[in-house]
Amino acid sequence: MKNICVYCGSSPGRRPEYLQAAEALGAALVARDIGLVYGGASIGVMGALADAVLAKGGRVTGVIPEALAVREVPHSGITEMRVVDSMHERKAMMEELSDGFIALPGGLGTLEELFEILTWAQLGFHRKPCGLLDVAGYYRHLATFLDHCVAEQLLQPQYRAMLLEADHPGRLLALMENYRAPTMDQRISRDEL
Ligand code: AMP
Repeated sequence: MKNICVYCGSSPGRRPEYLQAAEALGAALVARDIGLVYGGASIGVMGALADAVLAKGGRVTGVIPEALAVREVPHSGITEMRVVDSMHERKAMMEELSDGFIALPGGLGTLEELFEILTWAQLGFHRKPCGLLDVAGYYRHLATFLDHCVAEQLLQPQYRAMLLEADHPGRLLALMENYRAPTMDQRISRDEL
């Protein structure tokens, strides 16, 4: 994996563990010579993550829509900033630039990005690993809910299994390195939809 996209909160959250986890993940990426792709902001968990990668001498690419640059305070010190026209373009570019995806704690934006990239995997648009870094049990209820979706037969077990989970960056990255995407009955190209 050359580059990993990390989705995370534009807020810092209530617990110091969230920012600490961003720092630990940043250090783990640099230790493996993996570049960071993220939303380009200098605030919240996003800012802490970018700062951590830069502090260790790593590569950071931000992707931010022009209109959002005003609200989210773009990071001025990152390796490269791509300014795009829309949220849709941002998500597509983040996917293209990355070999895997991780969600750290975050709010609606983070959840939407995580579920979109999982949906793209389910449709066979990509076969890249998707991971959840569960910090201080933040995502425990989400994992339980996904198991409930499987039990209720609205989510197929092989698609539930696409979301890798760990509470430590090194363990999550190891799971992602060894990931094999499920075999699809029929793969659809994104251009077909
Ligand atoms: P949040 O987790 O809500 O703090 O947002 C984290 C990131 O997701 C920020 O960069 C937001 O700009 C972005 N975001 C917010 N809403 C959306 C959305 N509907 N689609 C994609 N990204 C979003």
